[in-house]
Amino acid sequence: MKPTHVTLLAIPGIGHLTPILELAKHIVAFGSIDVSLLVLNTDASPAQSQLLTSTILPKGLEIVDIPSVDIACFVDEQTDVVTRISVIVRESLPHIESSIIKTARPTILVLDFFGTAALDIMVDNLCIQKYIFFPSTAACLAFVMYLPTLDQQVDGEFIHLSEPIQVPGCTPIHIDDLVNPVQARYVDEYKWFLYHASRFPMAHGILINTCQDLEPISLSALTENPILQQIPMPPVYPVGPLIHMDKPMVQSKNECMTWLDNQPNDSVLFVSFGSSGTLSAEQVTELAWGLELSQQRFIWVVRKPSSTETTSGTFFTVGGGEQSNPCDYLPDGFMSRTKDVGFVVPSWAPQVDILAHKSTGGFLSHCGWNSTLESVLYGVPIIAWPLYAEQKMNATLLVEELGVAVKPKVEKGEKVVRREEIARAVRLVMKGKEVQNAMRERVEEMKRSCLIALDEGGSSYNSLSQVIEKWKTSCIGLENVNDD
Ligand code: UDP
Repeated sequence: MKPTHVTLLAIPGIGHLTPILELAKHIVAFGSIDVSLLVLNTDASPAQSQLLTSTILPKGLEIVDIPSVDIACFVDEQTDVVTRISVIVRESLPHIESSIIKTARPTILVLDFFGTAALDIMVDNLCIQKYIFFPSTAACLAFVMYLPTLDQQVDGEFIHLSEPIQVPGCTPIHIDDLVNPVQARYVDEYKWFLYHASRFPMAHGILINTCQDLEPISLSALTENPILQQIPMPPVYPVGPLIHMDKPMVQSKNECMTWLDNQPNDSVLFVSFGSSGTLSAEQVTELAWGLELSQQRFIWVVRKPSSTETTSGTFFTVGGGEQSNPCDYLPDGFMSRTKDVGFVVPSWAPQVDILAHKSTGGFLSHCGWNSTLESVLYGVPIIAWPLYAEQKMNATLLVEELGVAVKPKVEKGEKVVRREEIARAVRLVMKGKEVQNAMRERVEEMKRSCLIALDEGGSSYNSLSQVIEKWKTSCIGLENVNDD
């Protein structure tokens, strides 16, 4: 029998591409298995294109561009990200299928969360087994697995419930923390989200970018909790944290790294809202004043303010694409008054290099799961400033369960975090000895546990090794049939 081939499907967005690319590299590193990463050809951001071209790819990993598909008749400018990605995947199915046919080998197909339409792919005389790669937390996965049940049980909007949502065996989810796509139930975004959630049980297994010590409660709910087990549940393999660790990502030193070299150890706060987060104009002003009032050193990745108060990821266009002049929207004189302590980077910065740098002592982050894992793996405490997707759940995990973050408060009746509160949170993390020491200790502890989990013999290493061993033999005896 021909050896098994692993085909992973990356969906658009650097927050999805980065971890699945890392997973692909880890699979290759286990040896004797060929891997293809299918990349959907969308209007990718420069950062995304750069990631694929600058990363040193191991022998045995092939990047396959899937031709772009015309989705103009299914979406318009207002269409949300979940719907857009789901439609792209659905329309790309023939291309995905033909790429599998080309390998002419038994295939393990690994799909990102929003790629579940590809669970239907069948090819005559070819054994294809399908897995899902979930690039976020176990807490979010448990919620997703439980969503079809909640959908049956709850009438009306989830956001109108008076009690937190109790996924069996998990920490209750505050209603305010619910992921964006479930905040309104009668729209396409929710329907697609539910569609993907209902299809998870069709997978042979789910790989997840977390590890035992980061999320013991949610992981045991997924694997042991009796009520959750009433839901058809494929085996769950925690294989994380998978982050981009090739060093350095930026070969020639850029200005911001040179500036960082000249700052004292642990003295700089890194401020960034992920690949596509933006703030309102009022919030940008308050943040600028807050940083200035805190009198702490900072690097701030600034973006042009959004026109609305609500922030949501755009995935496709930002991520280093849209350049603007920060002087147009930062308070008058901010740049000159802070020039000795601050460094403003428009749009995009080498985040992993900054977090890994000895001068970086704190991270004001939107709590995207990749940013969170990067911060933990480089031992940097967090100021949690969640914006969209599952980031509010992540922030609560960091503050309430892991103790590695503080969260600035929005006063009642306010739409923005005020400058005094920002300055307070910044000083607390960067200077407040007690809090700072406690958080640093916790984050160092987490970092150690994560590194142990990834190391040979660690829980995530063993989990990945177990699933790869299964893959190597999974189609034996089924080589001439499709077993789905
Ligand atoms: N990132 C970066 N430079 C930036 C902003 C983001 O390198 O200026 C990277 C960051 O290191 C992370 C990814 O983009 O790996 C963002 O993923 P995350 O899950 O944190 O958030 P998302 O962008 O998906 O909301």
